[in-house]
This record gives sequence, C-alpha cells and structure tokens, in this order.
Amino acid sequence: MTAPAAGPDDQMVYAENVHKSFGSLDVLNGVDLAVRPGEVCCVIGPSGSGKSTFLRCINHLEKIDGGRIWVDGSLVGYRERGGKLHELPDREVAAQRQAIGMVFQRFNLFPHMSALANVMEAPLRVRRQPKAAVREQALALLDRVGLADKAQAYPGRLSGGQQQRVAIARALAMRPKLMLFDEPTSALDPELVGEVLDVMRDLARDGMTMIVVTHEIGFAREVGDSLIFMDGGVVVEAGEPRQVLVDPRHERTRAFLSKVL
Ligand code: ADP
Ligand code: MG
Repeated sequence: MTAPAAGPDDQMVYAENVHKSFGSLDVLNGVDLAVRPGEVCCVIGPSGSGKSTFLRCINHLEKIDGGRIWVDGSLVGYRERGGKLHELPDREVAAQRQAIGMVFQRFNLFPHMSALANVMEAPLRVRRQPKAAVREQALALLDRVGLADKAQAYPGRLSGGQQQRVAIARALAMRPKLMLFDEPTSALDPELVGEVLDVMRDLARDGMTMIVVTHEIGFAREVGDSLIFMDGGVVVEAGEPRQVLVDPRHERTRAFLSKVL
C-alpha cells in the first residue's frame, strides 16, 4: 500500500518518490509504495501508465532518476555514503536481482531446453549447486505448479498456460523473497488463464510476497491484500481491494474501473 507509514526496514518493498524518464518522456512521476512481507499487492492502470517500468525499477532492470527503492531493507542498485548514492557494481546488482523472481507476459522459456532443464538452469549456472540437488528441487517445483508429468517436454509442446507455469517454477528455483508478475495471463487464451492464477493463488497462500500487475480484477479482489491504481506515472489510489473496486476515492480510478469492470 502507498503512503510511507512504516519505514523501509519493516517492508519487503518500499519505494519513495520514484522518478523515471525515457528522454523527454516522464514515465514515473513520484511513485510511493510499501509492500510488507507476505503481502499480495495487485496493480492496475491504463496502458502506458508506467506499471511495467516501475516493476523493472524494483529489480534495477531500469535505473531510476530520482527517489529510492528498498527491497527487504536494502537499497536497490545503490549504496548510500555521506548522503550520496553510489551505484553498486554489476555483481552486487546481480546478487540483489537473484532474490527477486520475475514473470512476464511472454514466458521467455529457453526453447531448446526441456521444462526441467529450464527450471534447473539458473541454480546450476548461478548458484553452482550440485546437479542432483538442483534436479530434485526442480522436479518438486514442477510438481508444485502441476507439471510433474511434463518435466521432459520442450516448451514448443506445452500450452501457453503450461509454459507460464514452468516460468513460475523457474523463477521460484532461485528461492526469491519477492515475486514480480507483469500481466502474467494477458497473452493466454481465456481457457488457460485459470490454471496460472491458481498457481499464483497457491503461492500467495504459502506466504510469498507478490506484486502483480494484472487485468484480472477477480484475482485482485480475491487474492490481493492491497490494490493500487496507477495513472500518469503515479499511484493515484491504494487500499484494500474491495474498497478500491467498490468505492474508489478518486475520479480517475472510477473512470478506469467503469471501462474494465
Ligand atoms: P504500462 O506497463 O503501464 O503499460 P510502461 O511502463 O510499459 O506502461 O510504459 C510507460 C511509458 O513508457 C510508455 O509511454 C512507454 O512507451 C514508455 N517506455 C517504456 N519503456 C521504454 C523505453 N525503454 N524507452 C522509451 N520509452 C519507454
Ligand atoms: Mg506493461
């Protein structure tokens, strides 16, 4: 939820006055957000309002031009010394990023690798854990997303919903403390949306901290602990999902909801 009440130390994600521009285009104009451990925060808003950019800033795939973001108490991408921010070396940025799982609209699986190999890839390459242990964990993750029987299948032989579930298992393989979802079901045929949302619901139930950009208002209402509405690069409104959906405080939220509901 928005409005920094507690400080960054109590929150899994804490963003303060985040600004980001691409050339002369101001995309984020002072985003504030606080997400506590275990919270599921859903994000809605019109196309172009800066939702994806903000998610990418959280794991420093985009550099911010102003403000600050903390994840689990650590400043993302920078170290503060003498009141000044110094950018972290790539190696430290990579280490921060490993703690954050990201799932995109498009599944981005490696097409030449089986589902199992996709899930094993990052822990093998980055963590250099023993192969047998990585394999065992990957099989357990595939089981968790309901794909135990597809371990040897290549992405091309899987449906979009199955591929997205592999992508979630692959993100979980790095044991993230935070999961970012950017419209994870938007590219799916309608009949495949439910199986992906079910996996996300289970993840939420297990206590994962999640930020979910989504058009699935039903999911936001049922699974979300908080719902934020972004427009024009700011958080216009944040609150308990039902309150935001049923009785929004701001006209812009009301206008957006009247189009999507
Ligand atoms: P949303 O996810 O809410 O649809 P985005 O964060 O993707 O919005 O985009 C916000 C705005 O920033 C859009 O106008 C988009 O064209 C622009 N934008 C996003 N990424 C880039 C980029 N790498 N370079 C230039 N403009 C970008
Ligand atoms: Mg987007």
